Amino acid sequence: MRYTGPQCRLCRREGTKLFLKGTRCLTEKCAIDRRQYPPGQHGQAAGRGRKMSEYAKQLREKQKVKRMYGLSESQFRNTYSGASRLPGVKGTNLLVALETRLDNIVYRMGFASSRRGARQLVGHGHVEVNGRKVDIPSYRVVPGQEVRVTPKDREQLSVKLSQEHASRGAPVSWLSIDTDNAAGRLLELPTRDAIPVNAQEQLIVELYSK
Ligand code: SF4
Repeated sequence: MRYTGPQCRLCRREGTKLFLKGTRCLTEKCAIDRRQYPPGQHGQAAGRGRKMSEYAKQLREKQKVKRMYGLSESQFRNTYSGASRLPGVKGTNLLVALETRLDNIVYRMGFASSRRGARQLVGHGHVEVNGRKVDIPSYRVVPGQEVRVTPKDREQLSVKLSQEHASRGAPVSWLSIDTDNAAGRLLELPTRDAIPVNAQEQLIVELYSK
């Protein structure tokens, strides 16, 4: 089941910014900048140098990445299963699979300020891939495909788009982005160093390999 409680609580639980609330995450209102200890009654005590077991570290890393992309346990597990069957480094394959989801691509292109917003944009039928409407957030985009906000929605979104895009920081090298037309293209599959995610994905592989 997907978590529906306060988003900032998840970041505090994981001890890092998961960027779940769009532009708010880039302001001083960000809860993790204000309270750097886990949530809950014993949060402050727990935050002081508690030693974690290997299993606990693996579990936390999995929770962190799963929450960052906003997936349920079964969606995340299925993504891992598919990625682990591919040749190459399993952890990198997992991140590439997560990054090439249509909702994530829409987010990375700056057409929504959070992955949750991007999922809604896709789910409500406002996004096309190679000129055809795709309303499945988990749709896997492949290199060469063009992703764009549908022309009828573009005008309404255009001011918001440029503001959100401007707040996102440096775009990733593996996407070309045409903000004026709310469109972009996946140029190639990203390498690990080109994925701006602070995670130790090997811990997730270890967890799921038990
Ligand atoms: Fe996380 Fe964003 Fe909330 Fe900061 S503002 S704690 S990054 S969801």
